[in-house]
Amino acid sequence: MDERLRFLLIGAHPDDADIKAGGTAARWCALGHVVQMVSLTDGRAGHQSQHGPALAQRRRGEARAAAAVIGASYQVLTHPDGELDDRLEYRQEVIRLIRSFRPDLIITHRSTDYHPDHRFAGLLVQDAAYLLTVPSLCPDVPHLARTPIILYFADAFKKPCRFEPQVLVDIDEQFEKLVAMLHCHQSQFYEWLPYNAGYLEQVPAGDADRRVWLAERMSRRIGPLAERYREQLLQAYGPEGGKQIRHIEAFEVSEYGAPLDEAALARLFPFLPALARSSSAFTRKEWVDIPEDD
Ligand SMILES: [Zn+2]
Repeated sequence: MDERLRFLLIGAHPDDADIKAGGTAARWCALGHVVQMVSLTDGRAGHQSQHGPALAQRRRGEARAAAAVIGASYQVLTHPDGELDDRLEYRQEVIRLIRSFRPDLIITHRSTDYHPDHRFAGLLVQDAAYLLTVPSLCPDVPHLARTPIILYFADAFKKPCRFEPQVLVDIDEQFEKLVAMLHCHQSQFYEWLPYNAGYLEQVPAGDADRRVWLAERMSRRIGPLAERYREQLLQAYGPEGGKQIRHIEAFEVSEYGAPLDEAALARLFPFLPALARSSSAFTRKEWVDIPEDD
């Protein structure tokens, strides 16, 4: 391989990055690239009967195991789950974290989402984006010459604006890997989420049965994304390929990062068909409100 690219997936909780981009992360890892998943909180609130440091420790272990499935790493910060906000020290921590990792691409939440931690995670990355290049801020970590490309994880919220993806990644071949990652988050997929949503009695007891059950659930949960963007998939993958895809991960370009032009798309998503590159490439408009690259 010519170049090991660096991908930084910043979620609010220790399973967000895997749920939203685990299949794509698996593709990058298989190509030998470096993928770091991050949780800005410690996940200590995500359970009906366990909490505090014991749950945080359990979830840290689950996150590490999930990352290990694909050869990625997982960094879980220590801020309390459910209490993320946009205070200055959190922004500075995010600036240092991104500068230290020096990513080619960042993916994070949009700042419109049902969970305040997701919203603030998106906001913290958005607020850090330009300041990454300002030497006098957080001078203990060398600034970046350029703000990296930033993408958003998919969501279904409509107000104030819908998620509009430019990148659609076919993850049918990675779907079992994705399920294997999520299977590591036992406290979430077999305990907390079923309890919270009222289907705890449906969770099978045995490990093998659980995994089959989770794969079916995830297919039902992710499947609608491919249906929602079927027209775009047909354009990007061609009429034959596009109609067969069942599971995708979708990403929208953030205006606050560097533009995702055709060359960047080819470099960062080499597994996308050439069609997808020409049909969905996003280039910054001539007129911009933030400093120019050149
Ligand atoms: Zn979350």
